[in-house]
Amino acid sequence: MNAAVIVAAGRGTRMGLDRNKVLTPLCGQPVIVRTVRAFADTGLFDGGIVVVTGACDVADVRAMLGQAGLCATVVPGGADRQQSVSLGLAACDAQADVIAIHDGARPLVTRDVIARTLESARETGSGVAAVALKDTIKRVDAHGVVVDTPPRDALRAVQTPQTFSAALIRQAHALYADSGARATDDAMLVERMGHAVRLTQGDVENIKLTTPEDMLLAQQVILRREDGKEPMRMRIGHGYDVHRLVEGRKLILCGVEVPHTLGLLGHSDADVALHALMDALLGAAALGDIGRHFPDTDPAYAGADSARLLDHVVALLQARGYAVGNADITIICQRPKLKDYIEAMRKTVAAHLLVDEDCVNVKATTTEKLGFEGEGLGISCHAVACIERRQP
Ligand code: MG
Repeated sequence: MNAAVIVAAGRGTRMGLDRNKVLTPLCGQPVIVRTVRAFADTGLFDGGIVVVTGACDVADVRAMLGQAGLCATVVPGGADRQQSVSLGLAACDAQADVIAIHDGARPLVTRDVIARTLESARETGSGVAAVALKDTIKRVDAHGVVVDTPPRDALRAVQTPQTFSAALIRQAHALYADSGARATDDAMLVERMGHAVRLTQGDVENIKLTTPEDMLLAQQVILRREDGKEPMRMRIGHGYDVHRLVEGRKLILCGVEVPHTLGLLGHSDADVALHALMDALLGAAALGDIGRHFPDTDPAYAGADSARLLDHVVALLQARGYAVGNADITIICQRPKLKDYIEAMRKTVAAHLLVDEDCVNVKATTTEKLGFEGEGLGISCHAVACIERRQP
């Protein structure tokens, strides 16, 4: 039977807080709730979870865990960490034969890290999460002068959980409880008994929240994890199109008919602006271009209303969990003047993209009579669109 002791009796002084740091929210949930949940969700602790916290925080921690639907025994801690762990061990189920001791301020611990320590403790009596060091460590004297440089390969940074057979860790604490000797972690007490301590693979993300910078780092890790398998939520795409101006055709731009002596030539209604926009949207989702989805050799699209094709593109995005964020369209056109139609274009495009009007921008520019647009031979358009994943 496995039990856990989560120690959360520290003050938040290094965090610049005037309260216990484990009570502070991290991405919407108190740190202690996240830590206890990390243990509870493993389903590995049939012997229960004991949380040790400052006497003045017991009621708050109980209320927070209760509100989160988490079941744990909350007991007041002692004058230092070692005493707090001892009190936690005393509150553990007597039937538990393996006990994991964990810092309440390490909410990012994963199931794998916890499970490895349990497995090792069951096999060898101990399992302590640890990671290799990235930095070279120097031993210094009282004046800050380097004494020596221990080989990095032989060094590990030790985390929690520190998991032991219940008999071993209870004995280690009992031996040192009244001796006055103090240890910075539980493994040290076991080492002093001459018992081998086995390390297991920890996780660099299993950080102990100590400073305000640690909180920022933890937020980033949680955001990434909660984003699941799709780390990129926002995507961007660009589209470009040109159509020739000819007589005998309507001029349709952004789904709006603009009175003019010429119109754009094309297989569909030749709405150059919506074509560029569709390519931007398809590009953002990595779905190719409109030529692939609506081939101009397909009679089904002869004279097609491009706004209907845009609806189809939006549906394609929705089917993949994307919604349109915003779009910016630049029409390059010497004649006619488009300013009187811009608002109608924005409204039309927003309605088809299923977004508010302030998510759509349409602008028109001339080329100072330079090039094919300037000579009135055709109209070109650039579009940029942002799409967002709204579901995993
Ligand atoms: Mg086109």
